[in-house]
Amino acid sequence: MTALTSSASLSPQRARSAPVAAVRARETIGIVAPTVPAEPQLATLPAVPTLEVDLNAVAANVRTLAATTCGSIMAVVKADGFGHGAVPIAIAAVQAGATSLGVATIDEALALRTAGLDVPLLSWLNPVGADFATAVAHDIDLAVPTLAHLNAVAAAAHSIGRVARVHLHVDTGLHRDGAPRAEWADLSAAARQAERLGVATVAGAMSHLPCADRPGHPSTMAGRAALLDAVSVMRAAGLDPALVHLATTAATQHAPETHFDLSRIGAGLYGIGRGLRAALTLSAPIVSVSEVAAGDAVGYGQTWVASGPTRLGLVPLGYADGIPRVASGIAEVWVQGQRRPIVGTISMDQLVVDIGEVPVEAGTRVTIIGNGDAGEPTVFEWSRWSQTVPHEIMTGLGARITRVYRGLQ
Ligand SMILES: *Cc1c(COP(=O)(O)O)cnc(C)c1O
Repeated sequence: MTALTSSASLSPQRARSAPVAAVRARETIGIVAPTVPAEPQLATLPAVPTLEVDLNAVAANVRTLAATTCGSIMAVVKADGFGHGAVPIAIAAVQAGATSLGVATIDEALALRTAGLDVPLLSWLNPVGADFATAVAHDIDLAVPTLAHLNAVAAAAHSIGRVARVHLHVDTGLHRDGAPRAEWADLSAAARQAERLGVATVAGAMSHLPCADRPGHPSTMAGRAALLDAVSVMRAAGLDPALVHLATTAATQHAPETHFDLSRIGAGLYGIGRGLRAALTLSAPIVSVSEVAAGDAVGYGQTWVASGPTRLGLVPLGYADGIPRVASGIAEVWVQGQRRPIVGTISMDQLVVDIGEVPVEAGTRVTIIGNGDAGEPTVFEWSRWSQTVPHEIMTGLGARITRVYRGLQ
């Protein structure tokens, strides 16, 4: 598949609800130049730890989720695309039908613009002193959770003679970010005033749910109702937010009432969600093979002691690469078609595997995380072994692991 150069494949519904497209009537959702590295030969993975990302899986996940909603899909590529690489993931998601991108910070948004991604783009988490002028100059939509943010964004837009596109971010029960109910009226009135002054336009109204991953949880419908209240307050102030958005991956899958105009899809892009495909495979060549005798202890703290002669394989990945140290003594890896235990304490840069009778030599590749199709450990298992969520495993995968992309393009 080549880069998408026209909006012909977008449904009218999608095209209508794309945040900036409607305003600036872009003819292309211009992927200017593919920035994904050329497809490698799987047989010739570099002889270092690699994180292979299957962009076809990401595209399939976008299509699966898009089929469940009449709203449009905003692909959330914050935290370097949940550790997968923000730019390649963004390109794949847009090729598959996502009509906008979402990130936390302005820097993340600017990196996407620099890479040539020209689609509508929303940044929702910035301190009041952030560089809003640069964001507005690059057509980045900004979520506004407080009056101070609105004033800062409006002043920045005024200083460069532009109109900022803002999404009023309201709290509807998460009690983490977004404006509390008591501030909705003031925030709306100030936003209307900014519109009159020609420094901002309210493009959206957004909120976020606390328990969308638990189907039927009462906070989901309560949050939906509260967001509708917020929109009423905005309308009463003379605003007309064209994009109301609440649902993330879980709500998109489990709570159709929350869909509104678009879904902000993060986790689902990467395979977290029902019927979705994992995109990443973390593997590394074994550095060396050694043998210890009964009674020999392995690694820092001598936490594991061999009960008999044991062959060990050294894997050059550790907690600095995002392999959780807390999974020492629990986790397994996939060696030549077999599950083998990690023994001893996971170190900063390396871990040791009891390779048993499995025929391996220095250079044999070991899979640490895969999609589970063959039986290899998945990111879900790693999250259980580490008492966390798969999101934390994904986003923790370190920068020194070589990223390799295949599929799509
Ligand atoms: C991370 C994030 C998302 C994406 O949610 P997923 O559950 O990963 O799909 C959406 N909206 C906001 C505000 C977020 O912070």
